[in-house]
Amino acid sequence: MQPRKVTILGATGSIGESTLDLIGRSPDDFEVVALTAGANATKLAELAIRHRAKYAAISETAQYPLLKELLAGTGIEISAGEAAICEAAQRPADWIMASIVGAAGLRPTFAAVSQGSCIALANKECLVSAGEVFLSAVKEAGATLFPVDSEHSGVFQAIDPSPSDCIEAITLTASGGPFRDWSIDRLKTVRPEQALKHPNWSMGPKITVDSATLMNKGLEVIEAFHLFPVGADQLRILVHPQSVIHCLVHYCDGSVLAQMSAPDMRTPIAYSLAWPERMACPTERLDLARLSQLTFEAADEVRFPALRIAREALQTGGTAPTVLNAANEIAVERFLAGQIGFMTIPKVVEAAIEASISEIGMTRAATLDEVIETDRAARRLAERFCGAYGSSS
Ligand code: NAD
Ligand code: MG
Repeated sequence: MQPRKVTILGATGSIGESTLDLIGRSPDDFEVVALTAGANATKLAELAIRHRAKYAAISETAQYPLLKELLAGTGIEISAGEAAICEAAQRPADWIMASIVGAAGLRPTFAAVSQGSCIALANKECLVSAGEVFLSAVKEAGATLFPVDSEHSGVFQAIDPSPSDCIEAITLTASGGPFRDWSIDRLKTVRPEQALKHPNWSMGPKITVDSATLMNKGLEVIEAFHLFPVGADQLRILVHPQSVIHCLVHYCDGSVLAQMSAPDMRTPIAYSLAWPERMACPTERLDLARLSQLTFEAADEVRFPALRIAREALQTGGTAPTVLNAANEIAVERFLAGQIGFMTIPKVVEAAIEASISEIGMTRAATLDEVIETDRAARRLAERFCGAYGSSS
């Protein structure tokens, strides 16, 4: 069998690393077409050499000389800038991992989709921000989309072949993050280094903060709405601190199918890589007797308002989810820079959505350029509210 041609957008990140870990275990089965990174030339060069990539592209143009020096004499083609990342995404490949974080992944992911092959979608922000525009691009190109987010990969696995109207509801589980049982007053004191420590998952900084505010689960509700044949009112959230059950699909006959695995992203990535088959994966095996207890509780939308705000943005529709995502990215950046408090993150997001409704209007973006334009306007609004609220929570 010919090796499968694969490309990884965001190769130097947490998902990129997990993907390359799997690929590196069966080097004869895969040929690495392209690897891309934001700014870490040293790591990109090391990965490109180790995985014998044909092409390495870095977004930050200032890193080009270093990348060139590190890859001199290897025969690996290199390039820099956003256009170079999109070019990498368009090089013919059978399977492309879209794991750039945030709306920065929009153009590259759309570029990947345009070649009509298999897209493993980790970049949930792309679906939240561009929703219908993204799905029509997928349809038009004839691309195949595989959800990589663990909950959504779980749902994909737990949806049986019965007609979609047999599904009563879908539950996405949430670990609850490191501050699950903290009071509002205590939540106001959260420092960046505390929010960057997730109890179960090892992930990049942005999604780790999103998991602590529960905005991650809000983004995932919107992601699930686009991926699965259910309405917004059929999507439920359940806090499950052990992160062993990732989702539940509830059927009309009372059956509930759950997907379980240890909290390790290599399992959902392996599923998207091997589908419709399965491949061996070194994820720790579940030992339920040792775990002995799996616990569940309702999510608290008062202490974690991001969940409510995301649901409302989904209901409002139009550009509200685009604004939600962009404002959240700015607020998380400012929180990590120590400029706003933890509880100010959802405040900024909600204020940006309200302001964009009154100042810009909610007309649905019909093209990728319009999505990006809305994203930029929302960032400016969010900057304004970050400045206005400062660290007052
Ligand atoms: P990360 O921060 O570890 O990695 C992000 C990657 O994107 C890096 O390779 C970085 O260089 C690249 N990047 C950043 N800015 C860029 C830019 N402007 N242009 C080009 N490349 C850029 O993040 P991660 O944890 O790997 O998450 C990646 C995506 O996967 C996110 O959308 C996240 O929500 C999603 N996701 C992650 C996990 C997880 O366990 N890490 C789980 C589910 C979903
Ligand atoms: Mg998830």
